Amino acid sequence: MTKRALVTGANRGIGLEICRQLAKAGHAVLLGARDPALGEEAAAKLRAEGLDVTVVEIDVSKPASVKKCAAALKKQGHDVDMLVNNAGVIAEGKLLSGPDPMKGALAVNLLGPLNTARVFMPAMAARGWGRVVNVSSTWGSFESGLEGPAAYAVSKAALNALTVRLAREAGEGVLVNAMCPGWVRTRMGGDGADRSVEEGADTALFLATLPDDGPSGGFFRDRAPIAW
Ligand code: NAP
Repeated sequence: MTKRALVTGANRGIGLEICRQLAKAGHAVLLGARDPALGEEAAAKLRAEGLDVTVVEIDVSKPASVKKCAAALKKQGHDVDMLVNNAGVIAEGKLLSGPDPMKGALAVNLLGPLNTARVFMPAMAARGWGRVVNVSSTWGSFESGLEGPAAYAVSKAALNALTVRLAREAGEGVLVNAMCPGWVRTRMGGDGADRSVEEGADTALFLATLPDDGPSGGFFRDRAPIAW
């Protein structure tokens, strides 16, 4: 069944590849970008491959931007069935010295997905169908030791917790899961990473297209559950 997917932070990296894979699977794709010009540049690459995507302006850290995006989509009669919260920032720096990295990390990595969830999930529940994918990281996993930059790790651990609680409030037919793409060759991951964007995006495709009896409130990597 064809659904409409919104992918945030999709003008490059893993988000752009998630758009590609969802469009290839036959879904209508809304390519979210905080800078629409960068979004159009990215969309042109997909269109050159014969894939049809629509660019939407959305800065997930700004509730007004998220609401404006939802209002524009509503005006065009577009529902969001699949929400992929991919936008993220790495937020380097220590917690106790230097500039505080936490506010910026939380604004995008935690409050961003909350802002979009609050705007798009109630309508999914009302229609009785929805899929929400939070692109997190094993650096936010307690089991894996909360590695990486401190504020990033804390923000992704909080995103994992948010996933569990959103799943509880999601309503019938709406499945909410978190995932780790692995270490991926993007601007964030760097050239030395061991995974391609295709590999990194695959679990997002899997979770966005889960069957109705699929899991909710879980954490996945390589299409399999992993420990929090
Ligand atoms: P990336 O290449 O740095 O891309 C990040 C994307 O997020 C860009 O499109 C960026 O837009 C967007 N973004 C940042 N702040 C935003 C905001 N406030 N509103 C909307 N969009 C915003 O990173 P990536 O490697 O593709 O990462 C994608 C996701 O995977 C992130 O959540 C990241 O934490 C996660 N992840 C990545 C790795 C890895 O190894 N790469 C590993 C684990 C998890 P601009 O172009 O406008 O800056």
